[in-house]
Amino acid sequence: MSDAELVLRSTRVITPEGTRAATVTVSAGRITAVLPYRAEVPAGARLEDVGDHVLLPGLVDTHVHVNDPGRTEWEGFWTATRAAAAGGITTLIDMPLNSLPPTTTVDHLRTKQRVARDKAHVDVGFWGGALPDNATDLRLLHEAGVFGFKAFLSPSGVDEFPHLDQGQLARSLAEIAGFDGLLIVHAEDPDHLASAPQHGGPKYADFLASRPHDAEDTAIAHLLAQAKRLHARVHVLHLSSGDALPLIRAARAEGVRVTVETCPHYLTLTAEEVPDGASEFKCCPPIREAANQDLLWAALADGTIDCVVTDHSPSTVDLKTEDFATAWGGISGLQLSLPAVWTEARRRGHGLEDVVRWMSTRTAALAGLGQKGAIEVGRDADFAVFAPDETFAVDPARLQHRNRVTAYAGKTLYGVVKSTWLRGERIVAGGEFTAPSGILLTRPQ
Ligand SMILES: [Zn+2]
Repeated sequence: MSDAELVLRSTRVITPEGTRAATVTVSAGRITAVLPYRAEVPAGARLEDVGDHVLLPGLVDTHVHVNDPGRTEWEGFWTATRAAAAGGITTLIDMPLNSLPPTTTVDHLRTKQRVARDKAHVDVGFWGGALPDNATDLRLLHEAGVFGFKAFLSPSGVDEFPHLDQGQLARSLAEIAGFDGLLIVHAEDPDHLASAPQHGGPKYADFLASRPHDAEDTAIAHLLAQAKRLHARVHVLHLSSGDALPLIRAARAEGVRVTVETCPHYLTLTAEEVPDGASEFKCCPPIREAANQDLLWAALADGTIDCVVTDHSPSTVDLKTEDFATAWGGISGLQLSLPAVWTEARRRGHGLEDVVRWMSTRTAALAGLGQKGAIEVGRDADFAVFAPDETFAVDPARLQHRNRVTAYAGKTLYGVVKSTWLRGERIVAGGEFTAPSGILLTRPQ
């Protein structure tokens, strides 16, 4: 331990065993010891005493659309990773679509990695994409280090990333199961969407009716059936419909290998509060009713939902029109996800340990990132220093993501990120950022 370069001390360190006063030593970017609070600081080490602020493991956000290259005017690695850092997120995994090219071949992955390399303020990994015609690319992408494969079961919103029909889903899933990979799925059923009333226009109630619960529930049922048949690993992205939870519980009880995520906007915003024309609230599947939100929280509490990720998916402001049918669907949540979730979690009686489990430990586990997700010896020294009892009003001007559109504008949230640390270096504090020091991550082989 005499080789410790840095020592962080807090009266509230969130560890896998619970929250306690502790002293955390760091060497070469890794945690080398978690010691009692009054442990002696090793000679030559720099002490950072954060007092009563909470020291928590840097969050791992496995669902981010960076859109770089190709739609960099929507978002880019520079801005997205700054927003992440400002929000206490130290690792993000980029979705394979909305950039041009999409991450659907090894060549495209290399292009994305080249673009990200010098702009990453946090560590960055990549999901691959499963398209109707790239089944032969999947194993190569897996070997090149993508963390798994995303597929849509209904139109994705961009032409270059077509969805899979049931036959194509079966083929892709069989291929991925062949190397025990992970398929992550946007689960809305196209037939149910097509038969739902499509009125368009600015009324949120009309938009909600156009993306009904049963579109999600049906698609999830199909996915679970395929996963069961192939004994494949699947992950349900951005679950919004609480009605699908009994299906998921039943599948798990039968041994189906399924994990589930939901998002801050489903947990903290309700359909009842969305103003007409306010397409900063538009995402697919949609933000649903308050009663549905209670089901999602109950499922987080009982473990049916594993984790919470942002699904940060921005566009330029001009695409956020007042017509819910044609406005870009996506909510920008990176910088605000921790305080947004924490604000609602504390109101519902959850502890910060729960939030850390949902947003760091379990997301790291989803991606197989054994070096992330906990304050524990041997893991990366990624931290957020967090003041959970301080409040702030959301001011879009203070957001770091490229287009400062947010569904949280004006809300008062609990929890201020004081500083964020990546592998033992403070990368942001008080709105001041260091030069990018994130590295590109690949799936552990
Ligand atoms: Zn997404």
